[in-house]
Amino acid sequence: GCDWKRFLRNNWLLLSTVAAVVLGIAIGVLVREYSKLSNLEKFYFSFPGEILMRMLKLIVLPLIISSMITGVAALDSNISGKIGLRAVVYYFCTTVIAVILGIVLVVSIKPGVTQKVNEIDRTGSSPEVSSVDAMLDLIRNMFPENLVQACFQQYKTTREEVKRPNEPGTNRTEASVTAIMTTAISKNRTKEYKVIGMYSDGINVLGLIVFCLVFGIVIGKMGERGQILVDFFNALSDATMKIVQIIMCYMPVGILFLIAGKIIEVEDWEIFRKLGLYMATVLSGSLPPNTQLEQSAHLLELRCTGDFPRLAIHSIVILPLIYFLIVRKNPFRFAMGMAQALLTAVMISSSSATLPVTFRCAEEKNRVDKRITRFVLPVGATINMDGTALYEAVAAVFIAQLNDLDLSIGQIVTISVTATAASIGAAGVPQAGLVTMVIVLSAVGLPAEDVTLIIAVDWLLDRFRTMVNVLGDAFGTGIVEKLSKKELEQMDVSSEVNIVNPF
Ligand code: ASP
Repeated sequence: GCDWKRFLRNNWLLLSTVAAVVLGIAIGVLVREYSKLSNLEKFYFSFPGEILMRMLKLIVLPLIISSMITGVAALDSNISGKIGLRAVVYYFCTTVIAVILGIVLVVSIKPGVTQKVNEIDRTGSSPEVSSVDAMLDLIRNMFPENLVQACFQQYKTTREEVKRPNEPGTNRTEASVTAIMTTAISKNRTKEYKVIGMYSDGINVLGLIVFCLVFGIVIGKMGERGQILVDFFNALSDATMKIVQIIMCYMPVGILFLIAGKIIEVEDWEIFRKLGLYMATVLSGSLPPNTQLEQSAHLLELRCTGDFPRLAIHSIVILPLIYFLIVRKNPFRFAMGMAQALLTAVMISSSSATLPVTFRCAEEKNRVDKRITRFVLPVGATINMDGTALYEAVAAVFIAQLNDLDLSIGQIVTISVTATAASIGAAGVPQAGLVTMVIVLSAVGLPAEDVTLIIAVDWLLDRFRTMVNVLGDAFGTGIVEKLSKKELEQMDVSSEVNIVNPF
């Protein structure tokens, strides 16, 4: 009766998105089976999906700027400091847990040990990045030299443009990553490297966030004269969220075509069959040596799909447990509230482009305090990537195993530290994690070109680690809200006292 109607009214968007996914898969499979589309036609097919992506990316810049500035300005700097600290501690701890989980599992299961990589051709050199370089570059990006440029970073795409990585002030990570990806492209191992991996679709988000943080604190403290700016950004933030609402209505349509387009486009269709086989083997216990599966040509990549169980443990056991221990509420209920965002993350594999949806779910469905979300979510989407951290650590150990290298404890620690840094430095865009993995590999002296070994399955893994990234950010808002209850309530009282009637 009435309950049913209410359920529909509250969840129509989620329901239609789920329907769009199912329909999209069906259409994709049918078109793939029964029609021979040319490459160009395949490209046309996902056009409505492309439009969705463009709209989401478009709104991210004003969203991050307005929500960060107003979020910080709305809080007393004392309180925002405390909230910020709690958020950062949460991000850091969960990222480290993810890395440790990944490393423990990959070291004990040893997926890469039996396979040899002698056949891989390793011509062409690449500049080395040490972990010091990686750290310096991370900090470098926090201080863009030019604010306007930080909003549209140019991609450097050829070796020529980055051939002087030793000049002071050069971002060596960027130089190295670019060189390696250029080599990979020239060897035809990959086709689609548009991103350096450190900038979100051309936005240096880390740099912008640091600036907005300072800007928000400053205008919040300026009193009456700063108020005009606070009001401006508040209005901008409201307007942006309204636009997000409009974009979300288009979402099911966009997603339907994105998923159908992807299914039509995938070349290596076998991957799903082998994946199923592999997962069945993993789930049924140990990996028996010399099975038929073991000999298959794609084993190398499939081994990495051990990431699925690892990501699942992190998102189904560890994050909910942390949430439960701190908030004392049902974590799965909270996760269900985020369903729309999680689904979007899987569909578009970008936590940055998912950010608008994450906002809506956290604020509207889970009713997290806006003073928390505005400030905590943009930072989380940028630096908190549990899935990526886990994946980078695992993949590095895996590649070491493929190279017959015994890692010392010191090297494992280096991998953990650089994987954490690389996940912080990675932008929330598709396959950024694969690209910043170069940092982790070079730091322990592994051939960085070996990232190309895992490219074939990365697009698929990427979707799931992005989901874990978004889930981690979401739980973060709930946890920080709970921990900051006292301050938020205090503020309510004091702001009531401070309200002056202008008339
Ligand atoms: N695609 C991921 C994200 O947006 C980053 C990654 O490649 O790991 O969160």
